[in-house]
Formats: sequence, C-alpha cells, structure tokens
Amino acid sequence: MKSTLYSLAAVWVLAAGTLPATAAAADEVNLYSARKEELIKPLLDRFTEETGIRVNLVTGKADALLKRLQSEGRNTPADLLITTDAGRLHRARQAGLTQPVESAELQAAVPATYREPSGHWYGLSLRARPIFYARERVNADELTRYEDLADPKWKGRICIRSSGNIYNQSLVASMIAHGGEAQSEAWARGLVANLARTPKGGDRDQIKAAAAGECDLAVANTYYFGGMLAGKDPAQREAASKMAIIWPNQGDRGTHVNVSGAAVTAHARNRENAIRLLEFLVRPESQSWYAEVNYEYPVRAGVAWSALLDQWGTFKADSLNLGQLGINNAKAVMLMDRAGWK
Ligand code: FE
Repeated sequence: MKSTLYSLAAVWVLAAGTLPATAAAADEVNLYSARKEELIKPLLDRFTEETGIRVNLVTGKADALLKRLQSEGRNTPADLLITTDAGRLHRARQAGLTQPVESAELQAAVPATYREPSGHWYGLSLRARPIFYARERVNADELTRYEDLADPKWKGRICIRSSGNIYNQSLVASMIAHGGEAQSEAWARGLVANLARTPKGGDRDQIKAAAAGECDLAVANTYYFGGMLAGKDPAQREAASKMAIIWPNQGDRGTHVNVSGAAVTAHARNRENAIRLLEFLVRPESQSWYAEVNYEYPVRAGVAWSALLDQWGTFKADSLNLGQLGINNAKAVMLMDRAGWK
C-alpha cells in the first residue's frame, strides 16, 4: 500500500513539473531480462518517457537469471522476469518465483493459448519452429509433418540441435500432448536414426549445415532464419538464401510455436509498475516493434507482421496451451534421452 501511495505521489509530482525527473527515481521497476539489451531497451525507454517509471534492466542468460532469482529469494530486487520459451516460464513458476496477475488489458491482448491460465506468465512475442529444407535437394512437398522426419527416406539427411535445448524439449512436449509418450518416443528414435551428425551448435548452425550440404533438412526457430536473411553477415545471408520453410502439420494440429514471455516475480516490490510495463509491452505499437526487430510474430492478433515474415506466408499454428509445454517437459527430456537424442 505504501509503495502504491508513493508511486501515485511521484506521478503527480512529475505531472506538476515541480521537481526534476530524478526526484521520481524511486518510482521504478526492476527487470531481469534474458533478451539482449538491444531487443528490449528502446521499448523500455519509451515506457519511461510515457509513465515516468524508471526501468532498471539486468540482462543475462535465461537459466542464469532463473538461478539468480532463486538464490535471491525474498530479497530479490526483480519485479519482472522476461525470458524465452514457455518451458522456462513454467520452470520459474514451479520454483515459486512468479505470482499470478489479473489484468483485463493483458487478457484481452494475449490469446489464452499464449498465457498461463492463472496469470503466472504472459507471452510477449511468438516464434515458430518449422522445418527448413535445402531448395536444391528437396522439394517442398516431400514432407508435410514433423512426424515425417522419422521416415527412413531421410536417413543421414537431418540436422537438429541437442536434446538439452529447451526449444527441442518444448517441441517434443507438444508432440506428447497430442500423440502421447509412446508415439513420441518412436518418433524421436526414428529422427535420431536419420540425423546427419551428432547434434551440435545452435539453430543457426543447423540452417548453415544444411545450406552447406551436410544435411538436407534442419529444424530451427523462425527468427534465426530471419536474422540470417536480414543480417549483416554475407555468408549467413548466402546460406539462408539456399533454404526455405516448410510449415509442418498444416492438415492437422498446426506448426509448433512458442513464446518469449514475462512473469511478475513472487516477491515483486513494485508489482503495479511491473504490471504496467507488461501491459505496455502488449500494446499494438510495442508488439509491432518487438516483433520487427527480432523477426518474431506478435502475440496480439491484428498487429501487422514485418515484411520478411509476410514473405514466408501465413500458417496454422498449434493451438495447444503453451503451459502444456512446461507440464510435459520432464517427460520430454526423459523420452529424448531414451531415444538416444544427444
Ligand atoms: Fe533463441
């Protein structure tokens, strides 16, 4: 209650223009972000300009920030956590690091699929994890589903990163949700048997390897492909230009998607400010900016896509509630291990 009164007072003071802006320094929000500074800072500056609320930004690797939150416990300065992958947001919730937030604005802006049902986290941007194929060696109609990756015809022709990566864990978690564990395990075994090499590197490395002929198919998140196509590195642009997207499972459940998202921390001292920041991040202007700079899709419906994303065409996204990805994560990890997915 005290902090609410204080923040109201600070806003009033600013509005009255009787004190320099620095006097409102205590009206702040502390953000731990697993997104790189350049992917978030300009938006935060706009938020501060508009509200007078200062944002203290700490950036770091996703898992390191989770650990930090955990070890800081009640003493954490963090009010809001921004991280990637619903699987990680779920881990934060499971560890007791988040609290539920009810906001009509957030609920209206973020489709139910892309937020935790009781408000523990909200998706901010959307990414898809489709299949990429080497234009020179594969026809787009040769496969239509993730399930096809287990077809022996692709033996020695697929690149995908390790099972330790949360993106793959979430993909498998979605398959478990739709087809059950036995079917997913059989699929994972088939996929492993088709790998061109022992999994290594990140998503970009899979696309590069396929472009270089080491494999013919790669699985990666769309924004890496966008970053390669639109980036400054000529070698990456060249590699990406040899590849194209197949949107899997258009005839059934849809392509696997995931989010970057945010959660108000369990011990947030600036809870109201954290919610205001969250609400700001799902506004149409923020959504288009956020999606544009990292080649992601807006979570909010009706927000225009970037030109590059438009070129890739529309697709049907899996409508599974992303909370399921976290719930099935442990099963997915064990299943991938049993299947020999390194
Ligand atoms: Fe990523």
